[in-house]
Amino acid sequence: MGGMTDSGERTDPGTTGERGLPGAGLVKGLAVTLKTMTQRSTTQQYPDVAPELPPRSRGVIALLEENCTVCMLCARECPDWCIYIDSHKEEVAVPGAARPRQRNVLDRFDIDFSLCMYCGICIEVCPFDALYWSPEFEYAEYDIKDLLHDKDHLGEWMATVPPPPAHDPHGEPAKEETAAARKAAVPASPAARPTTPGVRPEPDREGGAAAPGDTAGEGSAS
Ligand code: SF4
Ligand code: SF4
Repeated sequence: MGGMTDSGERTDPGTTGERGLPGAGLVKGLAVTLKTMTQRSTTQQYPDVAPELPPRSRGVIALLEENCTVCMLCARECPDWCIYIDSHKEEVAVPGAARPRQRNVLDRFDIDFSLCMYCGICIEVCPFDALYWSPEFEYAEYDIKDLLHDKDHLGEWMATVPPPPAHDPHGEPAKEETAAARKAAVPASPAARPTTPGVRPEPDREGGAAAPGDTAGEGSAS
C-alpha cells in the first residue's frame, strides 16, 4: 500500500519498487475460488422455489375494514401521503337513547404502493388494529396505476396475515386479560356467591338453572 514519508512525500508501491512474489495474486485468487466452490450454495431458485421469509416480513399492508373508524391517523402520519380515505356519516338509532348516534362509514381506503416506502408508521399508529403487515410480496404490476390497492383489495390480503406470536409465559399478562379477570372476580350482587380466588363466578341467569356447559353468561343482570 502507498503512504506518506516523514518529509510529506507520497509513496506508491508502483514507484518504490515494493513488489510481492510473482504469481502470488493469482494463487490467492485461485484459493478463494476453490474455497467458494467447496461451500454449499445459498442460491434460492425463486420463482420455482418460494423463499423462506421471516413471518413478520413487510410485504404488503392488509386492512381489516370492520376495525377502521375513519380516525384518519394513518393518512395524517404517512410520510409519503399515499393513503387516501373518504367517508360519510350515518345516523344509528340506539334503543333508549334520546338522540340517534352518528358513525363514520368508510367509502374509500386506498394505499398507493408505488409511493409507499414500507416504513410501517400507518400500522403502528392505528389505534384500532385495522392495519397489518402481510409477508405476501408477489403483487408486481405491468402498469404502475395498478399498484393503487382499494379497500377490497387490501381486505383480501388479510387472509395472508400470520397469527400473532404466542404470549411470553414469563411476561406480564395483557391489560385486557387483567381487566377481564378483575371483572369476572367481582360478584354481581353483594349477597351473592362468595368467590374463590382464581375461580370465575357463575353468571346471573333469569328464570332458573344454567344449561350444562353453558358459560356464555347470557341474561346477566345489567
Ligand atoms: S408503510 Fe409508511 S409509507 Fe407506506 S402507507 Fe404506511 S405510513 Fe405510508
Ligand atoms: S388509523 Fe386505523 S382506524 Fe384510523 S383511519 Fe387509519 S386504518 Fe382506520
